[in-house]
Amino acid sequence: MKSIMDMDYEDLKREITENLGWERYRADQIADWIYNKHVLDFSKMTNLSKEYRKILSENYYTDLLELVDKQISKIDRTTKYLWKLRDGNTIESVLIFYPNRVSACISTQVGCPVGCKFCATGMSGFVRNLSTGEIVSQILHMEMEARLRIGNVVFMGMGEPFLNYENVIKSIKIINHQKMIGIGIRHITVSTVGIPDKIVSFAKDGMNARLALSLHAAYNHKRDFLVPINIKYPIEEIIQAAKEYQKITNNRVSIEYIMIKELNDYDSDAEKLVEVLKGLKVFVNLIPVNPVVKDFQRPSRRRIEAFKKILESHGIEVEVRTEKGTDIDAACGQLRIRNKQLKRAFK
Ligand code: SAH
Ligand code: SF4
Repeated sequence: MKSIMDMDYEDLKREITENLGWERYRADQIADWIYNKHVLDFSKMTNLSKEYRKILSENYYTDLLELVDKQISKIDRTTKYLWKLRDGNTIESVLIFYPNRVSACISTQVGCPVGCKFCATGMSGFVRNLSTGEIVSQILHMEMEARLRIGNVVFMGMGEPFLNYENVIKSIKIINHQKMIGIGIRHITVSTVGIPDKIVSFAKDGMNARLALSLHAAYNHKRDFLVPINIKYPIEEIIQAAKEYQKITNNRVSIEYIMIKELNDYDSDAEKLVEVLKGLKVFVNLIPVNPVVKDFQRPSRRRIEAFKKILESHGIEVEVRTEKGTDIDAACGQLRIRNKQLKRAFK
């Protein structure tokens, strides 16, 4: 049995014409059923002959995710989905509602090997990479569950996308392709902790998708502590790679900066950040830390504003990110918090 969901458009065409020996347009029909009509059951693909449907059912599958739980925020409708994969592992994805669009936040790994000190996913350890199909299916299944079309995708769920590079690039192709999910490339953002060689490859392979950099500190000694992979890839190398990304794509880079009281929220941190970002066109998102760890507190509103002003005074565009879905632990870094309880409940 093969998974159709792991095939990009070229793969699907090849499978249909070369492996099955059918007409090329059959690939378009199948893609239309799955990605446009949201029909995953081959037996219901009625413009294919009964014989074709039988062959498909016997040799391929489309169901990579099973819904285990769904939580809807009473505050802002943010919806968190918990999915079970075919091997029993679970992952989460989130739908976020904005006035004029719906955004999907998707996972790329079961757990995460990076182990950032403030992140619930990072603290839960690493199990495995997601397949291309498992990444793409999160979007498809949320569209099916919520009965809507997603207009924006951020790779900001569980896992580090650039440690699962090949599958992430392939999933972007499927998410973007007109005959598949069909979301515009400018509406796809990959968030990374910063793997320099992958950032540069992404500029070439990512078809102009956007990049968000999880920086969180401008001093290496602080970042070494918060984001342990910084010891291997220090700030200067990441920023250099981001500059190369920018040279190739001409895209502005988002800088994610989680603010933690009395750790990285001083004026001197803001000034150092200005220095570090020199020569890079950026948009900075300041994110008051979600209290995953007790030791990490949010700075006061006044402190955040003062920090923001310093960046602005140097002409940097900056926004304090408003939180979504805090009542259901769907906000950044809170994915997986209640997973253990859920797993027990759904056994
Ligand atoms: N691994 C990638 C993408 C997933 S993490 C990355 O780190 O960029 C998604 C986002 O959640 C990142 O910007 C991360 O910094 C943020 N995040 C993690 N824990 C958080 C917390 N406790 N409070 C606020 N944001 C958090
Ligand atoms: Fe992994 Fe991102 Fe969490 Fe760090 S913040 S542990 S890179 S998911």
